[in-house]
Order: sequence, then structure tokens, then C-alpha cells
Amino acid sequence: MDKITLSKMEFEGHTGCLDFEKTDGQKFIVSLDLFIDRIRGCYTDDLSDTVDYAKIYEVTKTIVTEDKGDLIECLAQKISDGVLKADGRIDKVAVTVSKPGAPVKGIFETMEVTIERSRKEFVILSIGSNLGDREANILAAEDAVKALPGVEDIRYASIYETEPVGLEDQPYFLNTCIGFYTDIGPYDLLEKIHVIENGLLRTREVHWGPRTIDIDIIFYGNRVIMTPELTVPHPRWHLRSFVTVPLREIKEIGPEHPDDKEVSLYRKRG
Ligand code: ADP
Ligand code: MG
Repeated sequence: MDKITLSKMEFEGHTGCLDFEKTDGQKFIVSLDLFIDRIRGCYTDDLSDTVDYAKIYEVTKTIVTEDKGDLIECLAQKISDGVLKADGRIDKVAVTVSKPGAPVKGIFETMEVTIERSRKEFVILSIGSNLGDREANILAAEDAVKALPGVEDIRYASIYETEPVGLEDQPYFLNTCIGFYTDIGPYDLLEKIHVIENGLLRTREVHWGPRTIDIDIIFYGNRVIMTPELTVPHPRWHLRSFVTVPLREIKEIGPEHPDDKEVSLYRKRG
């Protein structure tokens, strides 16, 4: 993960439990760490491919200066919500809110709270197998995904038996889709998928050829990613009935124009 830091921004705020804190106001110091799964601007040198620092500053300033709450914990939460909403590329934010003049008797530098919040996205994977015990391979892949820390609320589509696409002289596939919420970033997820594929003895000999397991990222929230390692949404999902048929059990999809390959229900689920 890449990180952008906006450090020790000073604002006048009114957050506090005591009446005079709300009326008189005092100094608040806020720091933000913005985590991004590859800042595109690193490759493009284009301002629009990174976070607008001034915008994040203004969002933070507005929240701090207008807050009328009691707790800096809650103020930190409002800032993290505002920052994640302000720029969809920010995957995770760490917010530190510091109150050096906190009304506590004694000698101290500051009183502060730090929270970390990640954006959870709804991710859809397509899973296929046409070698070995196809169904066991699919179930093992699903279990491995479900066991990843950060994967929540998993949904399963039925399993379909499908005619091969691309290279036609190979066994029929079993295919399905799963959907889940996660705060694992897209590249980290791709890496974990490769580990799961390799664990299921996936080999990469023939492109589009037979495989014990193939796991593709179809959607990662609404994100569009186009880099040499990862293209999301998957460029051919809408052309493949082995994806669109199970997919529509877990996500409403718009007009798509899939091939007319044979896709028949193998095991109903959900
Ligand atoms: P295919 O799925 O096209 O038959 P592979 O499973 O061997 O081929 O994937 C080849 C490479 O495709 C992966 O190593 C990965 O880096 C890349 N790739 C690009 N976009 C995606 C995606 N959306 N999901 C999975 N892999 C992807
Ligand atoms: Mg693949």
C-alpha cells in the first residue's frame, strides 16, 4: 500500500464534553495517513491520478471546525467517513485527533486518539475448474477465499456446467461466482488468489486451456483498474455466459451480450 500523509493540521474546534469547550473553542491538531493500493500518479505523473490534497484538507477543516460533539473519538470517525467519501481511491485512512489544551489537570503534551478505517467493497469472483474433481476444486477455492482475514458476508451462486470457450477441445467446466465484502485491496487480493490457485495445483501451460482452478476478479466495487497485472472489471465478463449466468444470482447486471455456449445448472445453491 502507498501512503500519503497530511500531518499536524491545526484547526479551531468546539468538540468537548464541557460547556466552555463548546463556547470558547480550542486548538485541534489532526493528522491523516491515506493508504492507496498503488497511486496511479506514480506512473503517469498526472495530477488527476492522485489525491487532491487541498480537497482533503478542506473536508477535514470543515468537519473539525463545525463539529459540536463531545468526543474526539467521534470527531475522528466523522473525519474518516468524510475522507473515504471524498475520494474513492483511498482504501484506508488513519486519523489522529489531538487536543493539546484538553481540560485535564496536570502536565502533558497532548491528549489524542488514532483510529484506522478501511473501505469495504463488494467484490465478485468467477471460479472455474475442468480438471480433476471439478466440484471439490471449486468448493476448496471458495473455502480458501472465505478463510481470508477481511472477507465478510460471502454469497454463493449455483454451480453450472459449461461448454469451454476459446480452446474448445477440452473437458467441460464447472463455473460459479461468489460475492463478498472486503477491505483487502485489489492487488493484495490478486496475490492471495494466486496463492490459492497454486495451492490447488494450478498450472499455466496453455492460455485458456484446461485447469484445476481459475479464479478471476470480475468486479471490485465500482472500481476501474487497468494495469499490466490487473484489469477490473474483467474485460470479457459480459461476453461469457459462464460468468453472466451465475453472476446474475448475486448481482443485478445490465445489458450484456454473452456467447451462446451451453450453460446448464449443475448444483443449485442460495
Ligand atoms: P485467464 O484467467 O485469462 O485464463 P490466468 O488465470 O492465467 O488467465 O491469468 C493470467 C493473469 O491475468 C494473472 O496472472 C493476472 O495478473 C492477470 N489478470 C488481469 N486481470 C485479472 C482479473 N480481473 N482477475 C484475475 N487475473 C487477472
Ligand atoms: Mg484467471
